[in-house]
Amino acid sequence: MPFAKILMSIGATLGISAGIAGALSLFGLSFWNCFLLIFVLHFVAFGVLNYITGIITRYKMRVLAVQELEVINNQSVPVQCAKCNEPSMVPVIVGRDDNEYECVYCNAINKIVISAEAVLPTTPVATDVENTDDILQRQIKKLEENE
Ligand SMILES: [Zn+2]
Repeated sequence: MPFAKILMSIGATLGISAGIAGALSLFGLSFWNCFLLIFVLHFVAFGVLNYITGIITRYKMRVLAVQELEVINNQSVPVQCAKCNEPSMVPVIVGRDDNEYECVYCNAINKIVISAEAVLPTTPVATDVENTDDILQRQIKKLEENE
């Protein structure tokens, strides 16, 4: 914070304290006692305000992080590494032809080719297809092992 801003801030704090203390002294209270009390209360009030603002900011950051994860999750596709055949969940951007990822199992750089085809909607019968959450869990475990 520049020096001029600090001086203005201290000036405002002293001015407001003096103003309120002056008003209270009209009711027979001691000016200096009121001035000191209000001066100290300033810092308490700003401390509480900063604390509450911090909580709100952290909450908003968390909501944003969750939304970001949801977006990444919604735009991820399960793919198999072209070299080692291990499945991975990889975020892709539809419409771009440079979607690539590095396999966490063999470190091979894979390029993802997106192709679309139309099918008639059906109800899946097979239940032995690997769950995308399981693929993600295994990927995370492998990344943690590499750290
Ligand atoms: Zn691989």
